[in-house]
Amino acid sequence: MADLGIPRNTIEVLQKHRFTTRKKYGQNFLIDTNVLDKIIRAADITEEDCVLEIGPGIGTMTQYLAEQAGKVAAVEIDRDLIPILEETLAAYENVTLINQDILKMDVKKYVEEWGGGRSVKVVANLPYYITTPIIMGLFESRVPLKSITVMVQKEVAERMQAGPGTKDYGALSLAVQYYARPEIVANVPPNCFLPRPAVGSAVVRLTGYTTPPVAAVDERKMFALIRAAFNQRRKTLANSLGNASGLEVKKERVEQALEQMGLTSTIRGEALTLAQYAELSRLLLEQQGN
Ligand code: SAM
Repeated sequence: MADLGIPRNTIEVLQKHRFTTRKKYGQNFLIDTNVLDKIIRAADITEEDCVLEIGPGIGTMTQYLAEQAGKVAAVEIDRDLIPILEETLAAYENVTLINQDILKMDVKKYVEEWGGGRSVKVVANLPYYITTPIIMGLFESRVPLKSITVMVQKEVAERMQAGPGTKDYGALSLAVQYYARPEIVANVPPNCFLPRPAVGSAVVRLTGYTTPPVAAVDERKMFALIRAAFNQRRKTLANSLGNASGLEVKKERVEQALEQMGLTSTIRGEALTLAQYAELSRLLLEQQGN
């Protein structure tokens, strides 16, 4: 099959099948062989690898993955793309196509069975409208992962990588950095896609930790605290947490805990590191008698 990374080959396939891309599914197909090579290199795919691809589209990146990996499972929501994928991937016996919504699938169960106990690498040009639920879903449901190498909106990649005190730092940075080490490996302009997206894109590689970099007493509660901290970014941390419904912590208790940690009681949420959030949530839980 012709290399779909070459624009005219993609156009030919779309025309042959009279397929028009759907905005509601975030369909922007890659048409740049250099970018595709970069993604495959960044993901460091070898014959030993089982690769899970989310949203194969017409199979452009799937072809590249199938050339390098031991096997590839590709999950595509759009039923109309399946006959196209069957044709564009006909030459590859190591590809399994799954017509499902990734957000409704039991990915952990599937990966455990299909990977035969091995961790998988996730590689994808993600549909941007559901980037965060896809990535957090993979982490939170404990899918056995080596790494996630994905194309996302540039701004989202920057948020994942951001550290304390920067404008991009927030709940997403902390959530991602609890599970993995993020690195932006390439910036990708709109003209590498068909149709062109309205935003810039970036490839980010998330290398999963075997043990989290900080010890959280209660992960769920720590993340509830982090989300509340950034909900009202301009307020002091003590005010944000004291006002948050559902957290049930008093402002004074937060101030006390911050002082115990050697921090000023007027500090803002954006100044705390992940380790400090873990410590703060431990102190607050302790005070609650948990
Ligand atoms: N991988 C292809 C490429 O690089 O050219 C297509 C990438 S396109 C940005 C995103 C793909 O994800 C589309 O094929 C879209 O139909 C699919 N998709 C959107 N929502 C999905 C979902 N919930 N589950 C699985 N696939 C989805």
